Amino acid sequence: MAQGFTTTILHNDRQSPIEHGSVHKPIHTSVTYGYDDARDLAAVFQGKKSGYRYGRQGNPTVSALEDKITKMEQGVASVCFASGMAAIAAIPQALLKCGDHVVSSLFLFGNTSNLWQTTSNLGIQVSYVDATSVDHIAAAITPATRMVFVETIANPRTQVADLEKIGALCQARGILFVVDNTMTSPYLFCPKSVKAGLVVNSLTKAISGHGDVLGGCVTDTGAFDWRSYPNIAANIQKQPETMWGIAQLRSKALRDFGACLAPESAHQIAIGAETMALRVERQCSTALQLSELLATHKNVANVYYPGLKNHPQHALSSKLFHAHGSIFSFELKPGIDCYDFLNQLTLPISATHLGDNRTLILPVAQTIFYEMGPERRAAMDIAESLIRVSVGIEDSADLLADFRQALNRF
Ligand code: PLP
Repeated sequence: MAQGFTTTILHNDRQSPIEHGSVHKPIHTSVTYGYDDARDLAAVFQGKKSGYRYGRQGNPTVSALEDKITKMEQGVASVCFASGMAAIAAIPQALLKCGDHVVSSLFLFGNTSNLWQTTSNLGIQVSYVDATSVDHIAAAITPATRMVFVETIANPRTQVADLEKIGALCQARGILFVVDNTMTSPYLFCPKSVKAGLVVNSLTKAISGHGDVLGGCVTDTGAFDWRSYPNIAANIQKQPETMWGIAQLRSKALRDFGACLAPESAHQIAIGAETMALRVERQCSTALQLSELLATHKNVANVYYPGLKNHPQHALSSKLFHAHGSIFSFELKPGIDCYDFLNQLTLPISATHLGDNRTLILPVAQTIFYEMGPERRAAMDIAESLIRVSVGIEDSADLLADFRQALNRF
């Protein structure tokens, strides 16, 4: 990106002409695309000419969003899906085979962890390791390992993966490094800088920001050499090799499984993306102030936020990320009922979801990690009393006052 982050995103649609001088890419609702010369239709189907065929495989409004995410991630190409989970699930669907092995961070968003259990049932073995040290990743690699998967900052306990060293290890071993950038957003971190080959973003979170649309995206950063990857289909290999990963994701996952992003959703996400940097700046600043307030309060036992100096990966987070994110988690002192505490808050909404304009809060073990059961939660270092906060864009003084009054009641 030669220009700044927000300038680039705001003016991206106008890089090619739009009818009537429109400043946004229009919402194209057509599912099918007609050609005056039938030979052109055949050429598009055969990949000899660029063009759209059918809405499940591509759409001009969705393409405009893909182009924006590619710019944000400084990548070569992106493919959008109906949700962040659809984007994550697309990766094993398109790029792994029965018998392949994945090394995954143990500290993961719960649904991603469940997804790996499903892929294990399909014959793709997954080893879970503490990804805060590259040594654990290195020890888990086998000759069948095709992929290492981590979140930047883990949801919800905020462990920061040993990103630089894992990237270097994967590059040395020719293994695809996949980074879920949702917790940081492309504004705070560019996984290409640590040699990630593929980056996943849930577009539902910070990128769209308003809690009114679902979407997901996989971006190829260009850092991985697909020529060494054994699972690329022969027909895909006819394309330029930099496009092999995205082309296979588009055909084997998007086309064949069909979890495509609606053009209306792509438009909403693109509008949200225009203000992402501004929102995330404010959220991170308030998250730091709130976590500092809680860390010194007598009724709080532990606070987990990479921006706090006592966080085990504070130095790494400071080095890699523009700021430390909008999510923190904490535990109240024993004896304080977490529901009683949550019900004292007036601004944060008891709700799941993150990266939203509004501050959202939930008890983790009782909601998003409930299905896992106590053993898996304990293995993921999630205490039964853990509370997660996704900080919104409310005035920070109002949030600080609200948390202070709620904590002081006990
Ligand atoms: N990745 C992370 C880190 C998440 O926190 C989430 C959702 O909370 C997802 C992926 C899934 O995104 P979506 O809800 O858009 O499917």
